[in-house]
Parts: sequence; C-alpha cells; structure tokens
Amino acid sequence: MNASGGPGGPVEDHLDLDDVSFVREGQEWNSELHRIATAQFDTAADVLHLDAALRERLREPRRILTVNFPVRMDDGSVANFTGYRVQHTLTMGPTKGGLRYAPAVSEGECAALAAWMTWKCALLGLPYGGAKGGVRCDPNLLSDREIEGITRRYASELIPIIGPDRDIPAPDMGTGEREMAWIYDTYSQAMGHAVAEIVTGKPPVLGGTEARRPATGLGVVYVAEAVAERMGRPLRDQRVVVQGFGNVGATAAAELYAIGAKVVGVSDYTGGLQADGGLDIPAIADWVAHHRTLEGCPLGSAVGRTEVLEVPCDVLIPAALERQITEANASRIEARVIVEAANGPTTPEAERRLVDRGVLIVPDVLANAGGVTVSYFEWVQDQQKFMWDLIEIQERLRRLLRTAFGRVLEAGERHDVDWRTAAMSVAVQRVAEAARLRGIYP
Ligand code: NAD
Repeated sequence: MNASGGPGGPVEDHLDLDDVSFVREGQEWNSELHRIATAQFDTAADVLHLDAALRERLREPRRILTVNFPVRMDDGSVANFTGYRVQHTLTMGPTKGGLRYAPAVSEGECAALAAWMTWKCALLGLPYGGAKGGVRCDPNLLSDREIEGITRRYASELIPIIGPDRDIPAPDMGTGEREMAWIYDTYSQAMGHAVAEIVTGKPPVLGGTEARRPATGLGVVYVAEAVAERMGRPLRDQRVVVQGFGNVGATAAAELYAIGAKVVGVSDYTGGLQADGGLDIPAIADWVAHHRTLEGCPLGSAVGRTEVLEVPCDVLIPAALERQITEANASRIEARVIVEAANGPTTPEAERRLVDRGVLIVPDVLANAGGVTVSYFEWVQDQQKFMWDLIEIQERLRRLLRTAFGRVLEAGERHDVDWRTAAMSVAVQRVAEAARLRGIYP
C-alpha cells in the first residue's frame, strides 16, 4: 500500500514530490518552502548587518530526525510511513512546534516551518526554539485506529529527541487534541509516570487548556483588530474573506461574525462560498459539523477554493496552507490588508507586487502566534501544576500579541521596512544576540 498518497487530498497540487531540482546535495532540508523562509530571513539579516557565520548558523536546522516505520492496517496488511522532526535552533531553550499529517509532509517542509517557529517564538518573547514534524499520510483515507497506530509508533520513534525540557510537540494540520492525548500516553508509558508537559494542545481533562483549540484563530482576530484600530476603521465595519475552514479558519470566521464583521467568503479544500451581504457563519459551521466539509453547502454562492482569495473584501485571511497567494493571482487580490493565519501563504514574488500596490501584509510569525503562545501557557501551567482560568489566558494572549505588534511597528519605523521584515528583524536580532552570548561550544 502506498501510505503517502491518496486522491483528492488537500495539498496535492502544491508540492511535486518527484521534483528535487531545488535540493542541493548535502542540504536535503532545502525545499521551495524553505527557500521562501530563507529569503525572508536573509532580508532581515541584511537589515541587521548580521555576520556571515551567524547567518549560516541560523539558516540551517540544528537537528533532523527521519523515521520510517511500519503500521498494521485494518485489512491486516502492513504499511510503511515516513515521519520527520526538525529542530531549528537549540539556542533559546527547548524547541516547540506542531505535528502535521498530510500527503506533502517532507523534510524540507518541516525545516521551513521549524524556522518560522523560531522567529515566531522570538518575536513573542517565548523561551523556545522552533521545531516542526509530521508524518506523510492522508488522514482522510485512514481509519481512527490506523491514525492511532501511526501516532503511537511515530511518538515512540521520537522519544530520543523529545521531552518537556527538550522538544514539546503540538497540533498542526491534520492533528488535534486526540493525537496529542495519544502522544502524551505513549510518552508517559515509556517514562513510567504521567508527563503532561510533553505535548500542548491536549484535551483539558489531561492538563490541556480549553483556550488552546481556538487560540490561533482568536489570536488572528486580536491582531486584525489591533491593525484595524491603527488604521482608524474598526474590524466590525469591514468585509473579510477566510480561506480554510479548519481549526484556525473556522474559529477566526466565527469570532469575526460574533463581533459583527461581514464574512463575505470562506473555503475549504472542497470549494468555497461567497455572499456580498455576508455569510451566516454559525449555520455554515453547523453544516461542516454534520458533513465534515463545505461541499454541497447551500448557504451562499459557490466559488473555487483558491478563487475565494479574489472575492472583493477589505481584509483577507488565508488560513489554509502555504503558497496560496502567488504571482499568478496577486494582481487580482482586492484586499487592503492580508492577515496571514496560515504559515507561508504568500510567496516573496507575490508579496513584492502586493506591497508595491500598498497592500499591508501582517506576517504569519505575528498573525498566527496565538497558538504557540497559549501552548506556552499550557506548558507553564503543567510544569507548575497550577491552572489558570480562561479569561486570564485570553487576556494574557491579547496583551502579548499587542505587545508584539507594537515591537513590529517600532522596528518597521526604525528600519523603514515592511511589517514582515520588521517582525523578522526583531526575532532574528533576539536569537542572534542569544547565540552570540552563549558562544560556540567547546
Ligand atoms: P486544519 O487541518 O484544521 O484546517 C485546514 C483547512 O484548510 C481545512 O478546512 C482544509 O479543508 C483547508 N484546505 C486545505 N487545502 C486547501 C486548499 N487548497 N484550498 C482551500 N482550503 C484548503 O488546519 P489548521 O490547524 O486550521 O491550520 C491551518 C493553517 O494554520 C496551517 O498553515 C497551519 O500551519 C497554520 N497554523 C495552525 C496553528 C494551529 O494552532 N492549528 C497554529 C499556527 C499556524
């Protein structure tokens, strides 16, 4: 059985796994996505006049683990899966980052996402380096039991490099509370006692927090609110499009609807819906709860899953996956502000065109940092065995995101650069300073 593929998966048209032309020998972590992450890093490194040795050190992932492992399938056959865990920097403390289950998961994808996690944590002032991992599989084609088998075996393969003070996984695309509970249990069985701090994004009854699941989507809205305030036009008076109706996109759309903003377009991998007068988001969420996807939903007029990005609006929130806003569609995007809920949704080429037209891009490292911030709160609470209440968590989240936005504005003015370069320069400077202070061992 081919464990990695599958028809109609969400990401099948974004990464050609046979195309290795971008891989330089000895740098297997390179990928198109890593090229984008590196280009953003280099721009910030130029602004900071970072020296060559430090640049190279911060560009490359510190550790990469690749695991190939067998899992018994429901029909009795055995399928082999490939998983990765990339730790981008060990300078800032333990590493932290999500686990992704998707057909296009690769070393290069994990390396790019791990680097972004480093910059995100540094921008927010969290005591972590970045990591990312995942298993190449299509969860849509697997049974619950098969996913549990994959998760437990993958978790046990990771034991040599993860731990509450080493590397703490969390959910990402295709994984959630359920998978985190299995990892918690697998790790705890191996240690001989319960270790709640090994993962974040767990179910609340296992030491998770109710605030984690909606944290990224809520954070996206908090940041969009701060941006709208600065522009002098409240978010509730704006038209918004959200691409992706999973954890992040659906939460953001629901919160936007709740504060009175008009959500005029949404989509998932099966297609999208639009309505000039605004969509009924609670009714659409109800449809998805019963049907899993937006396919066939009658609550708006149909639009393509990518074409939704071109629906006229004030604020565009790509919340699906990387490389959605490209040279091919940038000129047709009408939004004045793009809030990057997904990681890496805008290619550098598209970004140049949009910035030239005066479109404001709120970079992923700021816009979607709500998830890792509440993960950090969860980890702190588990370490202290002292739980905070929901209001306290949400207030702290809003405060940290607003502080980070303030840092971005300040750096943007100081260096006279766009918000992405400003955010990256704050983050890179922090990590570079830590690396310099720690020096080189031995
Ligand atoms: P998810 O799996 O819950 O949802 C992804 C959504 O995107 C689904 O609705 C899916 O149908 C849709 N989608 C997939 N391919 C699409 C396509 N080609 N066109 C339109 N829609 C498509 O994942 P998530 O956790 O919501 O993550 C979404 C993005 O946010 C990812 O880039 C992820 O890395 C990023 N992110 C997530 C978190 C988190 O806490 N979950 C934190 C930070 C960043």
